[in-house]
Amino acid sequence: LLPVGLLSAAIALVLVVKLSRRRLSPLAELRLALRRKEFLMHYQPIVNLTNGRLHGVEALIRWQRPDGDTVRPDLFIPLAEEHGVISDITAVVFKMVAADLRDVLRAHPQLHVSINLSAQDITDPNALKTLRAQLEAAGIKPAQVWLEVTERGCVAVGVAADSTLAQARAAGYQVAIDDFGTGYCGLQYLQKLPLDTIKIDRSFVQTVATDSVTSVVLPHIIQMSHSLQLSIVAEGVETQAQADYLQQSGVQYAQGWLFSKALPLHELKQYVERDAAM
Ligand code: C2E
Ligand code: CA
Ligand code: CA
Ligand code: CA
Repeated sequence: LLPVGLLSAAIALVLVVKLSRRRLSPLAELRLALRRKEFLMHYQPIVNLTNGRLHGVEALIRWQRPDGDTVRPDLFIPLAEEHGVISDITAVVFKMVAADLRDVLRAHPQLHVSINLSAQDITDPNALKTLRAQLEAAGIKPAQVWLEVTERGCVAVGVAADSTLAQARAAGYQVAIDDFGTGYCGLQYLQKLPLDTIKIDRSFVQTVATDSVTSVVLPHIIQMSHSLQLSIVAEGVETQAQADYLQQSGVQYAQGWLFSKALPLHELKQYVERDAAM
């Protein structure tokens, strides 16, 4: 009788766990996923528009659920930001990027990896420390690492000269402003930011060559980036017509499905080798 009792108790326990697992809040699921290491990185090539050669890669996080489902970052990153879990995710991202790319970056010193930061990371003095520790352990130079911050982060970023981003630049990292053109930061605001690169948002790129507002604004952005000595990356380039127009307008770099989607690490390594053999 005892084994049967034990068995049914075990079955009941499994059921309770399963049911309660299903009843977990999205936040609790996210915390559990962190503990279970359900995250990985994909890498999207950034290319030089003049010759198609690889310039660097952007690290983009993926949440791979045990059931095989993939959760998009724009679903769980905002949740993590809202509930103060983002610093844990950012720390995991730093660690994964350092482990994934140490060999690629050492073998190809002209390449860089671009890492997305949230506004909270920028005001968190520990974020930079964590990053430096991970990179140093992997032997990756700060010069090969770009930090992407969105325009939303501007307010937090721009004000103090000794901001985390200014410190990051002093330590040799490059700073890129992400999703540029989606609002918030005015053009004049850019001059005050510790910046190296502007990433023009996909929504803006998609109207290139068709929208009259874009055709007026783009030359202004390009002119300003020249005078501030910033490089420009156009995001979400999907057609050859967009690439041609951007290149003729003076944009040097681009990323988008025309060139490559974000790739799992082993495919990125193949891409890098193909590019190096060009
Ligand atoms: P983002 O930083 O603007 O990244 C670009 C997004 O556009 C990526 O989506 C990329 O896969 C997608 N994309 C690239 N080329 C094209 C294209 O030609 N057409 C279209 N339609 N889409 C393209 P993804 O990977 O789903 O990431 C979404 C957002 O999640 C990112 O936008 C970024 O804001 C955030 N994110 C991703 N990874 C991280 C991370 O590690 N940390 C933080 N804090 N945020 C992240
Ligand atoms: Ca980005
Ligand atoms: Ca972007
Ligand atoms: Ca975006």
